[in-house]
Amino acid sequence: MIGISLRATDCPNVCRHCWIYGGSTHQRETFPTDVLWEVLDRFEKHKNECFSLGLGNESTYHPHFIEFYERVNKTPNFERIWVIPTNGWGIARDPDVALRMKEVGIESLRFTLYGQEPRHDWFACRKGAYADLITAADRAKAAGIRVSWNIKLDKGNVHEVPAMLAMIDRRDEKYTPFVIEPTGRGSEIQHLALEISDFDRLPEEIKKECKPTDLSNVKCQGCLQSPCFVLAPDLDVHFSIMMSGTFRTSAWSRLGNLKNESILEIAARLEGNEFYQLLISISVQELAEVYAQPGDERFHACYLHRKWLEQHLSEKGIRTDFLKP
Ligand code: SF4
Repeated sequence: MIGISLRATDCPNVCRHCWIYGGSTHQRETFPTDVLWEVLDRFEKHKNECFSLGLGNESTYHPHFIEFYERVNKTPNFERIWVIPTNGWGIARDPDVALRMKEVGIESLRFTLYGQEPRHDWFACRKGAYADLITAADRAKAAGIRVSWNIKLDKGNVHEVPAMLAMIDRRDEKYTPFVIEPTGRGSEIQHLALEISDFDRLPEEIKKECKPTDLSNVKCQGCLQSPCFVLAPDLDVHFSIMMSGTFRTSAWSRLGNLKNESILEIAARLEGNEFYQLLISISVQELAEVYAQPGDERFHACYLHRKWLEQHLSEKGIRTDFLKP
């Protein structure tokens, strides 16, 4: 399976922790719809390979997102899309959209909450972002699409958690709590990142799902073992690593260009990429054994992974600039 994020669409929000807008490159540029269909034609021809495709950023912001889901779900060598993470944009703009989504095989939507309405809109940097979530969730439910919520926690919204849980409970929907690890443009809100000392402020019912990293048994989330690829607007293909703040498309992550090569040729180049090799050269558990210090505990192992890997490579005199958020 080859996973590819097609950067074919942007996002109306500019969430304060979003990794998309960080790093050295401005990643709002997208490629046109006719190019999107051409790309799908090409992938479809590799009948013995399975592709998992995403439109990029906020999929419902793309003017033809329903046609995209429909085509993907009808094509045997594309993995079926049935659950979509979304901020609700496209669904809130048109009352018929949720029903169309259901018709093309979407069964579940996942929304993300950053607080109650004023706090959510502030964090998403768009007035009306919260109202869109609620409208979209209502329309999805009415169309027979399951709705669930991610609650993203930081120092500025932890006191609002009971109200967020009550809202979800009233709707009879499910949620998963996450502690925000600011990446990308999140360097501006590092002061909002929950610290281990804040753990006691979390409501009891979510504590078990927001446990700090166990330094004696640090687990990697697996993105290094099965990285996916990003197709940039110039049709450059990059490998994509979600390791806290490291993701961006730069010279070091470039593997080739789809204009003159096939996706299979390009994807096969991953193992030979020197930066990918550095990322996988040592496991997070081995790094923890050497570098973990009391007080290093964080909510996210990937932050520690990046920090320790940077230490490890620096000691060996190897460049680490590609690890900078
Ligand atoms: S809605 Fe998602 S893609 Fe858009 S800015 Fe927020 S986190 Fe980033």
